[in-house]
Amino acid sequence: MAKDLSKIAKQKKIKYFLISFVDLFGVLRSKLVPTEAIKDMQKNGAGFAGFATWLDMSPADSDMFAKPDPDSLIQLPWKKEIGWLASDLWMNNKPVDASPREMLKKQIIRLSKKGLILKSGVECEYFLINKEGTAIADNRDVQSKPCYDQSALMRQYELIKEICDYMIQLGWGPYQNDHEDANGQFEMNWNYSDSLKTADRHVFFKFMVKTIAEKHDLRATFMPKPFEKLTGNGCHSHVSLWKGNTNVFLDSGDRYGLSKIAYNFLAGVLHSAESLCAFFNPTINSYRRIDAPPTESGASWSPSSVTYTGNNRTHMIRIPDAGRFELRLMDGSTNPYLLQAGVIAAGIDGMDKKRDPGKPLLINMYTNQKDYPNLKKLPSELEGALENLVNSKEINEAFGEKVINSYIKLKNNEIDNFNAKETFLKEKPITEWEKLNTLDC
Ligand SMILES: [Mg+2]
Repeated sequence: MAKDLSKIAKQKKIKYFLISFVDLFGVLRSKLVPTEAIKDMQKNGAGFAGFATWLDMSPADSDMFAKPDPDSLIQLPWKKEIGWLASDLWMNNKPVDASPREMLKKQIIRLSKKGLILKSGVECEYFLINKEGTAIADNRDVQSKPCYDQSALMRQYELIKEICDYMIQLGWGPYQNDHEDANGQFEMNWNYSDSLKTADRHVFFKFMVKTIAEKHDLRATFMPKPFEKLTGNGCHSHVSLWKGNTNVFLDSGDRYGLSKIAYNFLAGVLHSAESLCAFFNPTINSYRRIDAPPTESGASWSPSSVTYTGNNRTHMIRIPDAGRFELRLMDGSTNPYLLQAGVIAAGIDGMDKKRDPGKPLLINMYTNQKDYPNLKKLPSELEGALENLVNSKEINEAFGEKVINSYIKLKNNEIDNFNAKETFLKEKPITEWEKLNTLDC
C-alpha cells in the first residue's frame, strides 16, 4: 500500500479525517472519520448512498465507496486535528465512471499515453458578502472602478492574510492577492501544478475560503453573477503541456511563443468550446456572466464569442506569454475536475486531428465585435450548452456517451426544477432560485 494514513495520523496528531468527494454538480460531500477507523476506510472506502448526491444513481443501487487518495491529504491549517482527503468513487468493485475525479483521471491517462501531462493554474474569483447574501460585505467599497483598490483590499486584510498564510504553510506557493473588478470581489493566486493536483487544490481552496469567511462573520461566494451590474466571478485557467521537464507548448521562434502542438491543442479547445460550456459554465446563473452587457466598471471581462488572440483580455483565449495560454471561459461555478478534464479532452482532439485555429483576432471584442458577425457565439443559456454537449461527437467520444448522458439528465432535471418556479430573463433581476441554489456553489 502507498502511504499509511493511520501512521501519518499518529505522526501529525490527526484525530479525524474528512473523506470527501465532489459530485457532478460540484458539491463537496464527505464523512468525518475518526483516526481509529482510517485503516479500514483507506482499504475499503467510506460508504455513501450515491442517489443522495448529484450522481446519476438509483435509491436501489448498492453502496458507493469513497476511497481516499493519500497523496491528496491536507491537514486543515486552521484545525490541525483534521486531515482532508480527496477520494475516488467505487461501486460493485468498479470505479464510478460518471464521477468527476474519475472523469479527469481518464483524460490524464489518455494524455499520458502520449507521454504528456497538462499543467495548469486556476484564478478563482469570489465576493465577500454578508451572511444573508443580500449585499457585499464592505459598504464603503463603492468605487465605480474598484479593481486593485488598496483601501478596500486592506479592510479585508485579516481574512485574506489568514487564507494566504495557510496556502504558504501548505506549500502551494501563493504569490499575490488583490481586489478584483467588482465591488466586494477578490482573487488570490498560487502556483500552477499538474492538473489533478490543481483540481484537488481548487476544491480545497473554495472550502477554505468559505470556511474562513464564515469565521470572520462573512460569507464568500463563487457564484458566476451574484449582482447584475457588477463583474461576475470568473475562473480562468492558464495551461501548458509538458513532456518531462520540457514545456512542449513553448516555441520561442513563434510570434506568440507557442509551438505547433500548442496551436493544435488550442484549436481543439476552440472547436469544443460551445459544448464545454456545459462543464465550464454549468449553472443557470452562468449565462448572466457570458455575453453580458458592460458592468458599472466599464467591461464584463467575460467572453461572448469563440475567439483567440495575443495579450488581450477581451477574447475567450488569450496568449499572455510564451509557452502557455489562458482560457477565460470558466466561471466560479465550474466543477474543478470537469474544468481540467474538459480542457484535456478538447486539447487531445485538437492534437489528434491537427486542428488549425486560424489567425488570432487582434481586435477589442467589447467595441469591435459587431464588425465580425460570423464569429461562433457562445450559448446564451444553459439549455443551449447542454444541447451542444449532446451533439458533440468529440466530447462524447472522450468521456463515453453514458457518462455524458448522466450529466445531461441531471442538468435537465435542474432546469425543469427552475422552470417550474421561475423564468430566466437576462434583462430581469437575478431570481431567488438562482440565489438559493448558486450562492454557495
Ligand atoms: Mg481575475
